[in-house]
Amino acid sequence: MQLTLTEDQRMIRDSIRDFAEREILPNRMVWDESQEFPRDLFRAMGELGLMGMLVPTAYGGAGMGYYEYKMAIEEVSKVCGSVGLSMAAHNSLCTGHILQFGNEAQKSRWLPKLASGEWIGAWGLTEANTGSDAMRMQCVAKRDGKDWVLQGTKNWITHGLSAEVAVVLARTGELLDSRGITAFVVERGTPGFSGGKKENKLGMRCSETAELIFDNCRIPEENVLGEVGEGFIQAMKILDGGRISIASLALGIAKGALQTATAYAKEREQFGQPIANFQAIAFKLADMATSIEAADLLTLKACELKNTHQPVTRIGAMAKYEASEVSVKVATEAVQILGGYGYTKDFPAEKYYRDSKLCTIGEGTSEIQKLVISRELLRD
Ligand SMILES: Cc1cc2nc3c(=O)[nH]c(=O)nc-3n(C[C@H](O)[C@H](O)[C@H](O)COP(=O)(O)OP(=O)(O)OC[C@H]3O[C@@H](n4cnc5c(N)ncnc54)[C@H](O)[C@@H]3O)c2cc1C
Repeated sequence: MQLTLTEDQRMIRDSIRDFAEREILPNRMVWDESQEFPRDLFRAMGELGLMGMLVPTAYGGAGMGYYEYKMAIEEVSKVCGSVGLSMAAHNSLCTGHILQFGNEAQKSRWLPKLASGEWIGAWGLTEANTGSDAMRMQCVAKRDGKDWVLQGTKNWITHGLSAEVAVVLARTGELLDSRGITAFVVERGTPGFSGGKKENKLGMRCSETAELIFDNCRIPEENVLGEVGEGFIQAMKILDGGRISIASLALGIAKGALQTATAYAKEREQFGQPIANFQAIAFKLADMATSIEAADLLTLKACELKNTHQPVTRIGAMAKYEASEVSVKVATEAVQILGGYGYTKDFPAEKYYRDSKLCTIGEGTSEIQKLVISRELLRD
C-alpha cells in the first residue's frame, strides 16, 4: 500500500491544487447560491486530465490509477464538494461503466469525448420509488425489431439536464430478477429523451441533480453495454469503484473543514488568548485529525485493492461508510469551532457542513454500506 506520494504524484497534486484555488475558490459561493452548474469549468478540468483519470491514454484519458484518482477528487473537494461530486459521478459512474463494460466500438465512440470534458456524462440507476432497493426499478426497455424502446423516469441523476450522454439501467426481464436489468447508453438529442425536474438541494448545490425522462425513446442495439440482462450485476461492480470516489470526496471535505477550523482556532481570541489554547478546542482538532487519518488509511487500502484487481467490496464499503460519517462529524465540529461565524456564509465551514451530508446518502447510504459489510463478514 502506498503511503507516500511519488514526485510525479506530488506534481499532479500541486497542479490540481493551483487550479482549484484559481478557478473554483473565487466562484464556489456564487455557484452555491445560484445552483448554477459550471459547465465550462468541466471543460477546463478535462484539459487537465481530470475528466478521464482512469481512462487509458489510447482513449484520450489520463491513464492513471486509483491513488491519483483519490488524490485528485480530494484536492478538488477540499475547495468545493459539489465540483468533487460531479467529477466523481462523471469519472467513475458514466465513464467508468463504458470503460469497464463497453466493447471496442463503444469505448472508441464515447470515451474520448468524455475524457476530454467535451461531453459530460450521467448514470441513471435511481428512481422515485427505488433508491436502496434498485432491483425493483420500473423503467422498462422493450425490444422492437433490432431496437430497444425505453419508457420511464430516473430521479436524482447527477448531470440529468446537462449530460450529453447517459448510461441508463432499465428492466428487460422480470421484476426482482437480478438478470432482468440491462445497461444502455443514451445520447442527448435522442427522440423521447429529456431532462426533467432539477432538485433544490441542501448542499452540493452546483452539482446538478435532475430527472431523466424516457418516453418511447428508441435505442439501437449497439448501445447495449455488455450482455442483455447483465445490467444489475454491472451496476453493483460500478458502485464498488464508486465507493472509493465518495470516500475521497468525503475526505476532501473533511480535510478542508479541518484546515478551516485549525486556522480559525489559532487566530480567534477569547479571554485574552487564541481559542486553540483551550483544551476543549484543541482536543476537538485532535479527534478530527485522527478520524480523518483512519478513514484515509481505509480508503488507501481500497485504492490498493482496486489497482491490483483484488476484491474490493468489503473494504470499499468500509472506506465509504467511515469516510462519509467522519466527514459529517468533522464538518459539524468545524462549525462549532467557528462559533457564530461558522453559522454564516462568510466562512466556508457551513458549506462543508451542508455538502458533507450527501456523502452518507449518495451511492449507497451508510445503512446500506453496513448491510454490505455485514453480509460479507457473515458469508466468510
Ligand atoms: C445529490 C445526489 C446525487 C445523486 N446522484 C445520483 C446519480 O447520479 N445516479 C443515480 O442513479 N442516483 C443518484 N443519487 C441517488 C442516490 O444514490 C440515492 O438517493 C441513494 O441510493 C438512497 O436512495 P433513496 O434516496 O431512495 O433512499 P431510500 O432507499 O428510500 O432510503 C431511505 C432511508 O431508509 C434506509 N434504508 C433503506 N433500505 C434499508 C435497509 N434494507 N436496511 C436499513 N436501512 C435501509 C436508508 O439507509 C435511508 O436512511 C443521487 C442522490 C443525491 C442526493
